[in-house]
Amino acid sequence: MNFYGHVIDGREAVAEDCEVVVDSVDPWTRRPWARFPLGGAAEAGLAVAAARRAFDTGPWPRMGFAERGAALHRLADLIEAHGAELGLADTRDMGKPLEQSRGADVPRAAANFRFFADHARLATAEVLPMDSGHHCYGRFEAAGVVAAIAPWNFPLMLASWKIAPALAWGNTVVLKPAEGSPVSATLLARLALEAGLPPGVLNVLHGTGPQAGDALVRDPRVDRVTFTGSSATGRSVAAAAASHLAPVSLELGGKGANLVFADADLDQAVDWAVKAAFTNSGQICLAGSRILVQRPFYQRFTERLAAAAAAMTVGNPLTAGTRIGPLASAQHFRKVSAYLAEAARGPATLLTGGTGDGWTVRPSVLTDVPADSPLWREEVFGPVVAVAPFDHEKQAVEAANDTPYGLNAMLFTNDLARAHRVSAELKAGTVWVNCFFVRDLRAPFGGVGESGVGREGGAFSREFFTEPKAVVMRIGAA
Ligand code: NAD
Repeated sequence: MNFYGHVIDGREAVAEDCEVVVDSVDPWTRRPWARFPLGGAAEAGLAVAAARRAFDTGPWPRMGFAERGAALHRLADLIEAHGAELGLADTRDMGKPLEQSRGADVPRAAANFRFFADHARLATAEVLPMDSGHHCYGRFEAAGVVAAIAPWNFPLMLASWKIAPALAWGNTVVLKPAEGSPVSATLLARLALEAGLPPGVLNVLHGTGPQAGDALVRDPRVDRVTFTGSSATGRSVAAAAASHLAPVSLELGGKGANLVFADADLDQAVDWAVKAAFTNSGQICLAGSRILVQRPFYQRFTERLAAAAAAMTVGNPLTAGTRIGPLASAQHFRKVSAYLAEAARGPATLLTGGTGDGWTVRPSVLTDVPADSPLWREEVFGPVVAVAPFDHEKQAVEAANDTPYGLNAMLFTNDLARAHRVSAELKAGTVWVNCFFVRDLRAPFGGVGESGVGREGGAFSREFFTEPKAVVMRIGAA
């Protein structure tokens, strides 16, 4: 089995260097397929030291935007050229269909590097002419060493979403991938070196959250912490970063509501609801896992949704045409199964779905789910969706907002005034109208409440990954 090591200061650790080496288990075969190390405080310290050196004395923060951008475009080229290997790594680590990892996540990772390279190069800063005979202008200076902690549901893509803006603005990075999906991070660091990023600019630290992750976040030499993961872990990360006042960006969990009004296009609403609930086996922070349907549509909508769910191909994620692979791990399969078992005790009705072979869960559609039940309120993070009827717009908005989360919401309607009105009323970082998952990388991305702190994307990433400085200059007579 191949070994995928930490990458620190341009050097990849070999197995013999590492005290603890473990297997990454392929959730479809349920057998080990790769080996990687679990680091702790010592390795975290080495990785931060390397990033610190590269930032304080290395060429990366001192390069012009064009030169740095060119290196990031070379990295994007290499990601595309190695797309098969990168896609396979994520699929074998966490079970998503290869068609998605290879076909969607890899191109999106490359696009993230291209976008943020260009965004930084073309950014402008305001000049403020002052009545007092001075002018003031802003500078956006690299913040320093960035700790980037990623989850396992989109391993490569979400890592790139953090690393790309951090690097484009001249920072150096220590990436800690999730312990369930380590391989693509090492592959990415290898490609970064091949693209000409200097040693220490992108370091990869493997290990568990409480050991490697916590040590990384607590290190006072870290200047920014960008974290994507669960709301519970987000709290620990924020507390650890507060020990040395490092600013945090937290992209956390969600319980997205999907509002379907009786004036919508029913076929389109069903198609998008299927994508929103079941893509990546529902292991998406943005999943539309609570669907509210206006009463005249309710019966037809649920019947069509259940039929579409039942028609989805569940199976080997390497086989063409598979829509739903296994859940990412035995532990996660047990968690999702427990929600279904609890719902089976009633009064909820399972229209289609349930557990399948191995660690698979078939796309599951439930109705009559009480609004105070765990399945309606908590993030299941599996291919499980609950559908409930509503009568009036106000009732739908109240039900949608009745959650501690606020990452995203969707609404389907052909009434333009309603689309604007309800979008404004929904408590969410992103609202999709008659669509889902469409992104403009300049737009703010993040959540309210339990769904996160801060926004990333375009200029929002610049705000986070830089130290904005005001320079005030006298231009009047001496
Ligand atoms: P998780 O919180 O268990 O782990 C995320 C990462 O944090 C992993 O790398 C883990 O090792 C690390 N970690 C765990 N404990 C830590 C600690 N004490 N200190 C530092 N790091 C620690 O989440 P997960 O199960 O990997 O991912 C699923 C969660 O992520 C879901 O809640 C999902 O909604 C959320 N998510 C959010 C977004 C978003 O953009 N808002 C995107 C994807 C996933």
